Amino acid sequence: MNSRQQKLFEPPEELSAWEVAADQDRTVAEVVFNRPLETPFTYLVPDALRELITPGQRVKAPFGRGNRVLAGYCVNVRQLNEKDKRLKEIESILDREPLVTAQMLELTRWIADRYLCGWGQVLQSVIPAGVKNKAGTRLITQLSLAPDWAQQTANVKVPAKQQAVIDALVKAGAPMRIEELTTAADCGTGPVNSLRTKGIVIALRQRMNQFDSEIGDVEKIDDLELNDDQKQALAAIVAPLQALEHKTLLLHGVTGSGKTEVYIQAIREVVSYGRQAIVLVPEISLTPQTIRRFRSRFDSVAVLHSHMTDAERHWQWQQIARGAVQVVVGARSAVFAPTPQLGLIIIDEEHETTFKQDSTPRYHAREVARRRAALAKVPLVLGTATPTLESWHRARMKLDELVSMPKRVMALPLPMVSIVDTRNDPRIRKGGAIGRAMHNAIGQALADKGQVILFLNLRGFSPTVWCISCGEGIKCPECDVTLNWHKDRNEVVCHLCEFSAPPPKKCPTCESDGVRYFGIGTQRLEQEVQSLFRNAKVLRMDSDSMRKPGSHDTALTAFREGEVNILLGTQMIAKGLDFPNVTLVGVIDADTILHQPDLRATERTFQLLAQVSGRTGRSERGGRVLVQTSSPDEPAIVHASHHDYIRFAAEELQHRSDGMAPPFSHLARIIFRGEKEFEVQAFAREFTTFIRELVKELKIKVRVLGPAPAPIARVRAHYRYHLQMAASEPGVLQSMWRIAAPKLPRATNVEFAVDVDPINMR
Ligand code: ADP
Ligand code: ZN
Ligand code: ZN
Repeated sequence: MNSRQQKLFEPPEELSAWEVAADQDRTVAEVVFNRPLETPFTYLVPDALRELITPGQRVKAPFGRGNRVLAGYCVNVRQLNEKDKRLKEIESILDREPLVTAQMLELTRWIADRYLCGWGQVLQSVIPAGVKNKAGTRLITQLSLAPDWAQQTANVKVPAKQQAVIDALVKAGAPMRIEELTTAADCGTGPVNSLRTKGIVIALRQRMNQFDSEIGDVEKIDDLELNDDQKQALAAIVAPLQALEHKTLLLHGVTGSGKTEVYIQAIREVVSYGRQAIVLVPEISLTPQTIRRFRSRFDSVAVLHSHMTDAERHWQWQQIARGAVQVVVGARSAVFAPTPQLGLIIIDEEHETTFKQDSTPRYHAREVARRRAALAKVPLVLGTATPTLESWHRARMKLDELVSMPKRVMALPLPMVSIVDTRNDPRIRKGGAIGRAMHNAIGQALADKGQVILFLNLRGFSPTVWCISCGEGIKCPECDVTLNWHKDRNEVVCHLCEFSAPPPKKCPTCESDGVRYFGIGTQRLEQEVQSLFRNAKVLRMDSDSMRKPGSHDTALTAFREGEVNILLGTQMIAKGLDFPNVTLVGVIDADTILHQPDLRATERTFQLLAQVSGRTGRSERGGRVLVQTSSPDEPAIVHASHHDYIRFAAEELQHRSDGMAPPFSHLARIIFRGEKEFEVQAFAREFTTFIRELVKELKIKVRVLGPAPAPIARVRAHYRYHLQMAASEPGVLQSMWRIAAPKLPRATNVEFAVDVDPINMR
């Protein structure tokens, strides 16, 4: 603990319990708590605990003025030295085994430093709750015939009821739960128990996993013969793998170029060395379909997703740590999977924003993976059709290696993309969602027995509730956004906080009856499409229609099997789907993202158009894409229509460079929030002044912008202000923060959060 922190947190005169350790031959432990401070606190280890303490365990120790006993993480154990003065003692050790390895300690320390938060906060967040509280593994008991049951029953007479039990098991050909068995054999538990006593029936303890039962048994299939581009990509990944060195490879492959097959064969190599691979996919792609793809190639694939119970997660974590798992597939947090001999990390759809966590620690899984792969001396593969400009820039600067797969497999062409200017379209001017060209194209596709995907980024029926008398949007009572009308529930809904209410009869501002609904959401699109194409089977996929677990898979299966002609929905259908019979993709409104106040708005528009275009033309039937927009000359849209990522990236990087925006600068954003606006504003000002003065004092190049109300100035009844700091060199904000952190201003009613490399500016 450094002297500055001692002064701040532990005023010596108030602490009587401090002990002077004269005896130099003693062990001390460095401990971090779930607090925003990075530097560990040092404690004496009582003799009784000396042999037991290891870094990575949790310990209990007195903390702060009141000597409140808190749980913290032991991050280092060492000998006492002369710099350690007047230390308190550890009270107890909470874990028999360390919860994390030395390398994971190193990684979490790096995250705390990089993302300006506490080391203890990082540990607290990355170790699953089920692992910390050692949640019981949810085992179920199933009954089965003993391997030698036939011999055992050959020469003895088995009572009829017991025979019925044996027959039921033979017929099922698989273990059964007791209820299933007694029902099938039509008996009580008595005959089953008798058979168990004789050793003819045995009990198996098995783990129950909802997700696994949804996936079902997967047939193993052979690896495909790679094409030349794929071979070259595989060789580029295998080279650092064999040399046991770290390297980041950007695998830029158009949609349908066969990236997943490259991942699989690279993992094959990793597994052959007895090592494990981690594959990160966006949460939205973590579907049974994706999992089956890996399960059909590898014996043991663990899935880490957000809907697991504590017990399931604990069990998976243990299996992974034991080395019993070859491949871990999961969303963002799977980057922390405790693989004992990591061989490779893959991030699929590297550009997806969900790889950034939006609560403390606000890490980006790509950067954490880069660091973890470097520590483990293994390659990291970033796969995407539309790299983030950050990743593209690094590859162009030769900091990472670029591997390109510019063609689709089997020489399938990329689909033709047509831009439709909606400004003079008669249907759209009348308030419709489907313009003339789109109408014709859908009709044509259906007539040719093709399937259609329609994409719209707004859920609900009408995304805006507005008063035509006073010209005001009707806002959520708790948030600074207008409400959305959901016709199916007949409610107005806030998409930020999920507030809902019956549609207002009168405008809350002017009390007139001028309340109207504007704009087109997926529900209204569904209604319009259904009325235009009465014989088509239309299916809507958005977070409203897909609330039930498993509904996602059911819907996609129906589409795959041709029971649905038109699939429409939000982002949910833009990613990763591979349906050969889709001959038309329609983008209802390409402008929805374009006009958002975000420095990445054009980048996201390009990404989205490229991804949705990727959903068609996946067989010899071909496919086309129609993009409706009122900005047909927008470069992001024009370049996307030519599938020209390279040109788009070059122009966009030039803009970013001109404006000193990322990746040419490094940003941190501080968001202040509290219930009273004047308090939030006052604290934001005080904080900003402190930062400005520190920047001046340290003579560093950091631009400070703000404070200002955040673009969404109120969320869940909390006012929000923000402040931005920009540095042109990496690491500057981090060094500044190390000095700032111990003396930051504090306020009782205002919280603040620090977001490094923010990707959400709202
Ligand atoms: P991407 O992830 O790049 O969009 P996928 O890996 O999903 O592409 O591959 C697209 C389709 O091509 C899949 O159906 C896959 O099975 C198939 N495929 C991939 N590689 C080959 C290959 N070498 N030969 C034949 N088919 C392939
Ligand atoms: Zn009004
Ligand atoms: Zn709200």
